[in-house]
Amino acid sequence: MAKTTVAIVGRPNVGKSTLFNRLVGGRRAIVEGEPNVTRDRIYGESEWTGRKFNVIDTGGIVLHDQDKIKNQIKYQAELAMEEADVILFVVDARDGLTGVDEEIAQLLYRTNKEVILVVNKVEDFSHQEEISWEFYSLGFGDPIPISAEHGKNTGELLDVLVSKLPEVETVEEDSDQIKVAVIGKPNAGKSSLINYLLGQERVIVSDMPGTTRDAVDTLIEWKENKFNFIDTAGLRRKSRVKEDIEYYSNLRALRSIDRADAVLMMIDAEKGVTDQDKKIAGYAHDEGKAMVIAVNKWDLMDKNSKTMQNYTDEVYFQLKFLNYVPVTYISALTGERIEELLSLVEFVVDQSNLRIKTGILNEVISEAVQLREPPSRKGKRLKIYYGSQVGIKPPTFVFFVNDPNLMHFAYQRYLENVLREAFGYVGNPMLFKLKQRN
Ligand code: GDP
Ligand code: GDP
Repeated sequence: MAKTTVAIVGRPNVGKSTLFNRLVGGRRAIVEGEPNVTRDRIYGESEWTGRKFNVIDTGGIVLHDQDKIKNQIKYQAELAMEEADVILFVVDARDGLTGVDEEIAQLLYRTNKEVILVVNKVEDFSHQEEISWEFYSLGFGDPIPISAEHGKNTGELLDVLVSKLPEVETVEEDSDQIKVAVIGKPNAGKSSLINYLLGQERVIVSDMPGTTRDAVDTLIEWKENKFNFIDTAGLRRKSRVKEDIEYYSNLRALRSIDRADAVLMMIDAEKGVTDQDKKIAGYAHDEGKAMVIAVNKWDLMDKNSKTMQNYTDEVYFQLKFLNYVPVTYISALTGERIEELLSLVEFVVDQSNLRIKTGILNEVISEAVQLREPPSRKGKRLKIYYGSQVGIKPPTFVFFVNDPNLMHFAYQRYLENVLREAFGYVGNPMLFKLKQRN
């Protein structure tokens, strides 16, 4: 099911990050922008009573070159209003109501999204009425007192929050649609690719409401396939503020990946793989998504017979953990290899649904074990009794062994490669679980 988004706003030091960490816990993604912008721990996923939602900590976004706190706060509030379905507006019980709180409130009056006023740093709940009365004047209804640090009353806050999450529009999830997230640095050519596809006579195009507010997906029918390009509106939105560009593209990328069947990562041929590409690709890998890498602007490259192979080697060197992902070379400008790219996307999605029967799987495993002896430690050797593919998307395997601690990373890699060679799973990460069986 699609998720909605909650943003945390408030002036510095009221406890936004503390609250964010409490909501998101261990599962967070790090996003970085331009060198003059600090961002950390800003995006993560949370769940309460079965409802999943994404949380953005706008406080993690700091514009160094704009020392004025006003700019900072305006920026964060605008971001929240644009990106979120529900806004948590945090104030500090110890400081009481401040002028900056009132300025933030002024900005938030302009939104028609739900705003929940959170009064943080309330440790003594016997005095809570006294503490919160002054915050009523902000005009966002009942303030909810909490202590983010000590986890007091945060369950209450979450109950209110979940009750205000919009019902997710149940967009017809057409099962024969391939949902594609196009990701990559600004200027890699993402919107050019979409534009190229839109301009083709043989494709049928329709816009569909996306699952988050203001998002528009584009459905492209090509041959027998339907490709749903996720959030093409967000993809094409070019921001006014320079620092925004990177931020939006990263945030959009993470969100699109969550919903996608396949991730299409675009790299600008002249720029190569960047650190940010690595992080976002790492996220897609961890999320178990099928992936294709398209090196774009290939028309601009001086080429000889080795250029492509050398470039591919370099891509895999930069993205070592993605050695299973196919790389193709395209031009969104001339249309070179775009049809092949769509076929490739379809192929990796097919591969994500691949399910190998236990019998055949074990024939391959026992052959692999004969060819290369499993590792041993202190005279005890790893024994693999049998394996089974227990899941798809991503392909997930359980191996029953004598002692899981005897498995080495290198040997697991070996088994993974053997299975890939035998069955494919092209473009898909594989997940292994070891279970002890005596
Ligand atoms: P941000 O700038 O709004 O993200 O604020 P932080 O989350 O970094 O918190 C600022 C300071 O307030 C830190 O020193 C926190 O430890 C402290 N703080 C956060 N929540 C609470 C709370 O519930 N009670 C108390 N006493 N301190 C808190
Ligand atoms: P986005 O920010 O990733 O959506 O990138 P755009 O699609 O806006 O492309 C950025 C710039 O690169 C534009 O000036 C495009 O015309 C140009 N561009 C995109 N794809 C190609 C390509 O394949 N070849 C060449 N030569 N230019 C391209």
